[in-house]
Amino acid sequence: MLQAGGVRGSKSTRRKFPQVSANLQQRWCSGCLKIDVMDMLINNQERFKHGKTLVITGERAQESAARAKYKPFEPHRTDRRDGKRVKRHVDHWRPIHDWTEEQVWEIIERNNILVHPAYRLGWGRLSCMTCIFGSPNQWASVKEIDPDRFDRIAAYEKEFECSIHRTKYLAERIQGAKPYEDMDPLLIAQSLDHGYAAPIFVDNWQLPSGAFGESAGPT
Ligand code: SF4
Repeated sequence: MLQAGGVRGSKSTRRKFPQVSANLQQRWCSGCLKIDVMDMLINNQERFKHGKTLVITGERAQESAARAKYKPFEPHRTDRRDGKRVKRHVDHWRPIHDWTEEQVWEIIERNNILVHPAYRLGWGRLSCMTCIFGSPNQWASVKEIDPDRFDRIAAYEKEFECSIHRTKYLAERIQGAKPYEDMDPLLIAQSLDHGYAAPIFVDNWQLPSGAFGESAGPT
């Protein structure tokens, strides 16, 4: 098994949630859970030292001012094509960087793809279920479909004496917020399941309720 970073150090924790920021030092979740994981994988496997590798991701400029500055095509963070000791050629392509949300739904419709059940529950953008960038309505919806998870996170905020949002604890943030309407229990069960056995392609494609809704997610 790949073990990057060694095994000698002691485990530690900041006992603080990642902070809502474009700075990946403060918003450490994106690095620790996603970006650094891919970097470690590419950096530590022999197979990436031969030939060329293309990393494809789906960020769009419309999603945030920070994402608008991303380049559609560039050498990946792990690229070492000019390296002296290690040579590794890795490019990064963002094929839908300049797409609108309309274009995204159009291609999904054209291919009759049944999207993730969470979009059909009302989520407009998907990342972690309890994303630190979640809107009040999104957190209220999390509380409705998975109250234990919501309560656990709210309890950690109090224990850490540090809220996810800069000024408000979760319990305050959802005051007056509305969970997404008419959430189907079957879709809730599918969303919370670790597996997915329902169809992926459908004949009767319909725009999910979350489309063109709130776009709360990483910046
Ligand atoms: S989706 Fe949200 S919570 Fe998850 S890693 Fe990205 S910023 Fe952090």
